[in-house]
Amino acid sequence: MVRLELKGTPVAPGVGVGPCFVVVETTQEKVPRRDVSEDQVEVALEHFEQARVHTMDKLREIQEVTSRELGEGDAAIYGAQIAVLQDPSALDAIRQMVRQELVAPESAIQAVVDKFEALFESLEGGEIKNWAADLRDPWYAVIRELNLEEEELLAVGEGRMVLVAPELTPGLVARHRNHPLAGILTARGGRFSHGAVLARAFGIPTVIGLEAVHAKARNGEPCVVYGDDGRVFLGAEARLREEADAYARDRAAIQASLNAAAGRPCEMTCGRTIQVLANIESLRDLEMFEPSHTDGVGLFRTEFAYMERPVFPGEKEQTELYRNVLEHFPDKPVVFRTLDIGGDKQLRYFQTPVESNPVLGWRGLRVSLEWKDLFLIQLKALVNARQQGDVRVMLPMVTTVEEVKEVKNMLDTLRADAKDSVRRVPLGIMLEVPAAAMALEDLAAEVEFVSVGTNDLTQYLFAVDRDNALVSKLYQPFHPAHLRVLRIVARTCDLLGKNLSVCGEMAGQLAGALYLVGAGYRSLSMAPPFIPEVKAVLRLASFHELSRLAKEARSCSTAGEAHKLLEEAAATYWRQVVRDAGTSRETSGAAP
Ligand code: PEP
Ligand code: MG
Repeated sequence: MVRLELKGTPVAPGVGVGPCFVVVETTQEKVPRRDVSEDQVEVALEHFEQARVHTMDKLREIQEVTSRELGEGDAAIYGAQIAVLQDPSALDAIRQMVRQELVAPESAIQAVVDKFEALFESLEGGEIKNWAADLRDPWYAVIRELNLEEEELLAVGEGRMVLVAPELTPGLVARHRNHPLAGILTARGGRFSHGAVLARAFGIPTVIGLEAVHAKARNGEPCVVYGDDGRVFLGAEARLREEADAYARDRAAIQASLNAAAGRPCEMTCGRTIQVLANIESLRDLEMFEPSHTDGVGLFRTEFAYMERPVFPGEKEQTELYRNVLEHFPDKPVVFRTLDIGGDKQLRYFQTPVESNPVLGWRGLRVSLEWKDLFLIQLKALVNARQQGDVRVMLPMVTTVEEVKEVKNMLDTLRADAKDSVRRVPLGIMLEVPAAAMALEDLAAEVEFVSVGTNDLTQYLFAVDRDNALVSKLYQPFHPAHLRVLRIVARTCDLLGKNLSVCGEMAGQLAGALYLVGAGYRSLSMAPPFIPEVKAVLRLASFHELSRLAKEARSCSTAGEAHKLLEEAAATYWRQVVRDAGTSRETSGAAP
């Protein structure tokens, strides 16, 4: 028996079994009304009080750090937010609603916030309307705190949970840091959004595109998530859970056999060796995989270290972080990508302008070149860390040669100031903007290496927002147009003798890795869970075979045909991997 069976879009492989927990996302929609029974009222009010006090404590902490690092003027806003949470009339209204109308505290807070908003809406003047946000934000922080506390309680009682939310965001996935997750289910999100990228990196089975799943799931009910094919069972009976456990055991057996060989170089049958690198987001990711399975780090997304903190990290703190990462990779390259915020990656301590088209707006290097003082701190920290290992600096969202020259000037000034005779830190660009692919000769002349970000390159090549489910069918990394651009990039770098890699998600998909190696790429960087299987498959192939396959894929006229061709080739190699591993399961664990 199952209460509800659903089918969505799988975005991170694996199978998960655990109780559901519905995450309240105050930034995206209003909190729905939830009732409490009369005997739950006092406990609910106690939780409310705890959450309010915790929120005020957190605000005080941020206020102190901000005041120390940026001055009292900038810290004043947090004092005002604390005062909002002490307002006796709002407190009375919330407590009364819980007691008299028997609604949960978060629903009562929402009702009070709605009243403020209606009041400010009726007043004249744009500035006054902004005050509504000043009152709303601290109360929304209390709602999130309440939700987090409830989640903690369930996690302590029931173990690994399946998070259910309206949208797959990086913040949602980051909750796995509080406690391990069995899965994630969301109504919205993109397969190549940063939330999906993180879910794959952390190995959390994830399914999106499940309509209103956050309204359908019930807290605490048992759930099964198949991240390989998108099946979801809410209120799953014991038999379904046992089936899922058996599937997971099979999967683990293959993984164990692949892990045993993952430390060996990725040498193809023809003798060509492919460099296989890891994409990581934080120091904690290093606990989840074995650095000796990789040839280094091809993409360290530094922005996540910035996003997790309450204030911008200083030079000393960043230097320490970069040194710590390097320590795990002695004698191996570590490519640090400079701050890449914008779109779905925001720093909560900086107000960035509201843009009507953020994906085409103020992102990546564009932000760093405007906020030069902050960018300089990061460059200094990276240069400081170079004694610890093989630091390489990579710039995101590069569009023009002038941008790269500006960064080189900054690095030159830094070195001159330090009277530094030590070797230069190699500089590289991410190739994500189609114009950069067409001007690659000029750009490549300025740098030591190039890494293709296929996630963004696909987004910009096809003019489809990678987070927007409405146009997701046009987001086609396997479209021959993209495959041809990738081939042009490989040939150009080959002719120029420039180091080239791919760090977009395509490198971690078996079909994608086969294509890229066939198109001439000798270096692939991917989320750590995919390294063992990509290595296992490539070891069974020769460059000659893959080069023919890649050519055939490029000559297709639709994404569907090219994808099918590459998927079929991947499935053939994978069957061989499974046979060699001596298990029966045929589903790959690679990125769906
Ligand atoms: C990419 O765009 O392919 C990439 C690796 O960067 P991100 O996914 O962080 O935008
Ligand atoms: Mg990108």
